[in-house]
This record gives sequence, C-alpha cells and structure tokens, in this order.
Amino acid sequence: MVTTRFAPSPTGRLHVGNLRTALHNWLLARKAGGRFLLRVDDTDAARSEEHFVQAIRDDLAWLGLVPDGEERQSQRLALYEQAFDRLVADGRLYPCYETQQELELKRKVRLGRGLPPTYDRAALAMTGAERVEKAAQGIAPHWRFRLDHGEPIAWQDGIRGAQHFDPAQLSDPVVRRADGSWLYMLPSVVDDIAMGITDVLRGEDHVSNTAVQMQMFTALGAAPPRFAHEALLVGAEGKLSKRLGSLDCDTLRQRGIEPQALAALLARLGTSRPVEPVASRQALVEGFDLADFGRAPARFDEEELARLNAAILHQLPYAEVADRLPAGMGEAAWQAIRPNLATLAEAGEWWQVVTGPVESPSMDAETRAFLAQAARHLVWGADPWGALTQTLKRATGRSGKALFLPLRQALTGRDSGPDMHALLPLIGEDEARARLLRAVAG
Ligand code: GLU
Repeated sequence: MVTTRFAPSPTGRLHVGNLRTALHNWLLARKAGGRFLLRVDDTDAARSEEHFVQAIRDDLAWLGLVPDGEERQSQRLALYEQAFDRLVADGRLYPCYETQQELELKRKVRLGRGLPPTYDRAALAMTGAERVEKAAQGIAPHWRFRLDHGEPIAWQDGIRGAQHFDPAQLSDPVVRRADGSWLYMLPSVVDDIAMGITDVLRGEDHVSNTAVQMQMFTALGAAPPRFAHEALLVGAEGKLSKRLGSLDCDTLRQRGIEPQALAALLARLGTSRPVEPVASRQALVEGFDLADFGRAPARFDEEELARLNAAILHQLPYAEVADRLPAGMGEAAWQAIRPNLATLAEAGEWWQVVTGPVESPSMDAETRAFLAQAARHLVWGADPWGALTQTLKRATGRSGKALFLPLRQALTGRDSGPDMHALLPLIGEDEARARLLRAVAG
C-alpha cells in the first residue's frame, strides 16, 4: 500500500512551503488509495515545542489533511538505538573526536588546496588504542556514517528523473552528537523503514540528504522507498522569500483565505497544469500526478491566491459555510451574496445590507419623485425586482443607470452589489417599501 509521510519539526509554525509539501503527500496517498502519515521530527528537544505540535495538527486539519496515523520521533529513540548498534557492529558507523574548530580548519585547508571540503575520514584511521585514550580522557565521540565509496548512488526521482551521486564526493555525515542526541538523517531512515513509507516526497533541498540516505536504507537491509523532490516555492518576484517562510495558516485565515483556495493553488503551482478554482478535493486528488511537476521554482503569488479565493467562494455550497455566516443568514441569502465576495467575512456586510438599516445618499427632487412612484408600484410576486423595473421602465421611460441606480441606492445604500433580483426578496416587501419612502423623505 502506498504510504507517504509529512515530517515537520515542531520548532515553528508551518508556512506555505511546508503546507504545499504536506498537501502533495496527502494527494499522492489519496490518489493511490494509500495512507498519509504525520511524523513529528522532535528529536531536538531544545528547539521543539509542544504548542507547535498542536499547531501542526490544527493547520493540517484546517487544510483538510487529516493524517491516517501519527508518530513522534521523541518516542522512538529505542528504534534508533537498535539501528545504531547494528550499524556500529557492521562498521558503518564510526566514532569521531574532532572539535568544531578542527573541522573548520580542515575545511579551510582543503578549500585552500582547491579540494572539495569533504571530511577526510581521519577518525576512521584511528587505532583502537587511540580511541581508548580519548575515552580515558573523558572525550565522548560523535558518530559518522561511513559511505560505501564502491556503491554508486542512483535513483529514478519522481520529479527530477535519473539522479546520480558519487559517494566519494560526499562527506560521511554525522548522525549522532557526542551528547547522544540524533541528527535528522538516520532516524528519518529508520522511521521510513519502520513506518512502511513507500514514497518520500519533499523539497529539493533534501536531494543530497537522499543520496546519503539511499545507502543507509541498504545498510539497514531495506529497499529504499521511491523518492521525488519538488522545486522550492519562491515569491512572485521569483526569489526565495522570507515573507513566504513566515506566511502561516493564521495569517492566511485572517486575510480571509479559504483552505480550498490555498489547496487549489498549492496543488497546481509548479506543475504544467493551470491553476484553477477547483473547490472539490476529489477533483484535486484525481488530477494529481507527479509527472506534471516541473523543475523550475514554483512561484507563489498572493494576488493569485486572493483571486482564486474569490472564485472558490463563488462556488461554495451553503452547507460548507453555514456555520461561519451571520446568524439568520440562510441559503437563499448565501446564493444571492456569494458572487460578490472576495472573503467570507464580507458576507456579514451584505447581510447587514439585507437586514438594515441602510442609509441612502440624498437625492434630487426628480429622483425622489421617481422613487415615490417606485414605492407605489412595488408589488410582491415571484420576481419583485423584475416586475418593479419593468413597470417603472414603461411608466417613466427611464432605462439603464437612470432606472436602476437610484433604486439600488435607496434599497441598499450602495451603488453596486449583489444582483437585485436575488437581493430584493431577501429584504422583503415592507422593508423595501419603507426604504424607498425614506429615500423620498430625504
Ligand atoms: N524534518 C525534516 C524537515 O522538515 C523532514 C525531511 C523529510 O521529509 O525527510 O526538513
């Protein structure tokens, strides 16, 4: 069964880039009838915060991405310990004693000689006696994973195509610190194996991690999952943007962005398919295909999101928004008002126009006479607005703006707004007549 995972670190709020990766993993799983898991990467106890874990769950739920399971790395340390013992026994992990300063110096020397700044494996050459001496001095080692230089690294990336790495060009990665804490690389592989992850879909900033992790899967006796790395999200101006890095669900919600709009945009950005106001989650699932993803950075444009948001609102059924509408606002009102909305919050303003009171601009004598005539001709049938305007057109010879604008102003207090055919029945006969007469009185 296809199983994907989203693996955030709870060290901050999710931003649109994270949400995009989460959505794509969810879509990939749903399309294949598989499972989508949340893995909380909280091995870094100092930087992980519990309220961020809850915020991650809430943000995913807001976007409609409810995981089929959740794991926390902080509760899986025994598994990492087992893998560690196995890899040490197999000679794939080796202890290192260099300090940060020593490593930095080595880097500089290599760069100065025109060599790539990879780790020189000095610790691998240490004798048992030298290690014993370090231990006697009370110096605890950090641990590196020994890459197998005889095993070329290659995979068919779901987005980037054939990938090749020469392991000799890579540093043996540090997997564990001297204090026993874990770096990201090995626990992630252990979990991907244990959780039965079949597809790892993540940002292209992880490509070189994948190269290393490919060998870790093999070293732990597992077949690597399929990998796909998506191009990063950039701002509308085409650059990696700090703004995007801090654009979180709360900010978007406050701006009135609907989760359906964000999902519609994030599902298609960076793909060859057009961004469209697809409100149906099922349609997004069916249309999802890694083959459509390109390698160029995906541009996130907040104005495009706002446009999409309006277009999505215009299609949302009453049932999906009812609990967020003003009290008393029913389905007919939603249908009448939604074509005018950029955000759902604006529904409240239009509902206020329906329920009143409204204030119309002061009108000249001729217009007031016209509105008095309107009040007399107002009859209530299936389509009071159609009937009223037809009658007035015949009776006064007015048409176009001269006919419609004063009526709209008197009835709604505004120059523009929802279709009056739909709005007038909501205002009701008595209130409509009262508004016309108030405008006449000036
Ligand atoms: N916690 C890692 C990150 O947020 C997970 C990367 C991965 O998907 O393996 O970058």
